[in-house]
Amino acid sequence: MTARRTIQELIGCHDCGGNVSFSALACPHCGSREPAGPYVQSVKEQRLHRIEEKNDQTLIGMTVLCAGIGFFYGSVMIGAVGAFGYGLLGAMIGVPAGFIINASRRLFG
Ligand SMILES: [Zn+2]
Repeated sequence: MTARRTIQELIGCHDCGGNVSFSALACPHCGSREPAGPYVQSVKEQRLHRIEEKNDQTLIGMTVLCAGIGFFYGSVMIGAVGAFGYGLLGAMIGVPAGFIINASRRLFG
C-alpha cells in the first residue's frame, strides 16, 4: 500500500481562484488554508448519506424485529431454549431481509 497519493487533481482555489492541487493543504498563490473551500456535500451526496443512514436503521430494525418475533415465538412454543434458537433464526432472517429492503430502496427510491 502506498502512503502517498499521487493524484494531482487541480481545482480552483476557494479564495483566489488559482489552480491548486486538490490534495494541497494550502494554496500556493494566496496561502489559503482551505483551497478547496469548506467541504460542502452535494445534493446527491446528501441524499446518498440519508439513504445510508436509513439503510442502517432498516437493517438494525429488521434484525431486532425478526429476532424479537423469533424469540417470542420460540419462548411460547418451546420455552427458553426455543426462544434463543428462534431469536437467532429471526436475526438470521432479519439481516438479509433488511438488505433486500435497502436494495429495493436504492433501486426505486
Ligand atoms: Zn488561493
